Amino acid sequence: MSRIMMIGTGYVGLVSGACLAEFGNKVVCYDIDREKIEGLAKGKVPFYEPGLEDMVIHNRDEGRLRFSTDLAECVADSTVIFIAVGTPEQDDGTADLSAVFAVAGDIADHMEGFKVIVQKSTVPVGTTRKIGDLIREKTGGKADFELVSNPEFLREGSAIEDFLRPNRVVFGFSGPRATDVVEEVYHPLYADGTPVLSTNLESAEMVKYASNAFLATKVSFINEVAELCEMVGADVQVVARGMGMDTRIGAKFLHAGTGFGGSCFPKDTIALVKMGDSYGVDMSLVKSTIGANERQSSRAVGKLRTLVGGELAGLRIAVLGLSFKPNTDDVREASSLKIIQQLWDEGAKVVAYDPVAGANAQRAMPDLELAPGVDECVTGADGLILATEWSEFRLLDMKKIASQLAHARVVDCRNIYRPEQMEELGIAYDSFGRRAVDA
Ligand code: NAD
Repeated sequence: MSRIMMIGTGYVGLVSGACLAEFGNKVVCYDIDREKIEGLAKGKVPFYEPGLEDMVIHNRDEGRLRFSTDLAECVADSTVIFIAVGTPEQDDGTADLSAVFAVAGDIADHMEGFKVIVQKSTVPVGTTRKIGDLIREKTGGKADFELVSNPEFLREGSAIEDFLRPNRVVFGFSGPRATDVVEEVYHPLYADGTPVLSTNLESAEMVKYASNAFLATKVSFINEVAELCEMVGADVQVVARGMGMDTRIGAKFLHAGTGFGGSCFPKDTIALVKMGDSYGVDMSLVKSTIGANERQSSRAVGKLRTLVGGELAGLRIAVLGLSFKPNTDDVREASSLKIIQQLWDEGAKVVAYDPVAGANAQRAMPDLELAPGVDECVTGADGLILATEWSEFRLLDMKKIASQLAHARVVDCRNIYRPEQMEELGIAYDSFGRRAVDA
């Protein structure tokens, strides 16, 4: 049982803190956001992640998980300190490391005795080592610590399962003393034979960026293939299935649509390009991946324009789904919001519905009109854009939807409906990389 401090209680920090407590560790979660910490102490999780609230309450009640805003006490009480604060994109595309370095300074101010500092935020290669330099500088070289880079690969929406049963865990070490500590922190994963990669700090940091950029590249690749499929009469879903049967390629991340969004792929791909720039390495493939992705939301709006047969100005358009993917309320870089902005720019009126992400979307776009449900969203609309593939949208009665819409036109950004079915129902329909259906 290790004594752990988790700094940052966002999607990654809170899931990691709760899961590490589930592993049997004693965890204190710290955040500068006092309101968040007060809510968490009462068992209130500030975002939507299936299963997380139950896990937080269970571990809190068992005495393994607590929440605090008292930095000095938390540092003193812990031997392992995780950093899981945000590293958002700056205007120039590089990662904003101000929170990471602020936290490193905070730790240095209160350090006594040996500590293992585990960097979990996604940071450019070299950052974890710089954290060490900063702590040494601030403490006049007196601090006794080792550094670990432990990039996180969880996916919002299935974060708990991903953390408890990961495909692999990656650790970069600055020295030998942290290895036993890390093994104790993650003992259930070592016990059940989860693949573990132990390496140096730089390689561990790079694994995270390279993995995200590779997955993003798969998405952009299939989106380019989808565009060509539309021209030549091929069906991208069949093509992707055929490709995925080759185990060298794999079937995952070959879903054509409006591309990748969220808090990771967009910022991590651009940060990797910037990292390349700073070392004189042209990350041309990653640049193309970003470029192809940026075209996808305009492709969705263009498809609607074609179905309408003219201008979108003055039309009422229903948008189903606002989160960047199902099972999360995260709307960061969601293609739905880009689509809505373009619809507004073209003079359309938008009404949107999402099972959980409405409030976050409205914070990002205060003028957004939200509907309380699917019926209210689609009734009387001149067209429908399906932006996020929530399960409840897969199960919709499309016959009813067709009768509720003023004009039965659907752009399916996630390829969840079948063109044949839409044809039978008399719905003008388009998706990505498959044949369109005229009214
Ligand atoms: P987030 O924005 O949800 O949470 C960040 C938290 O850090 C917030 O609660 C904020 O209040 C807190 N914070 C900021 N500055 C602080 C400070 N000085 N001291 C204490 N707390 C502070 O971010 P997130 O989505 O959890 O991402 C965190 C990191 O993990 C990022 O680097 C991200 O790239 C990476 N990551 C995210 C995901 C994901 O799916 N969200 C997956 C893997 C890796």
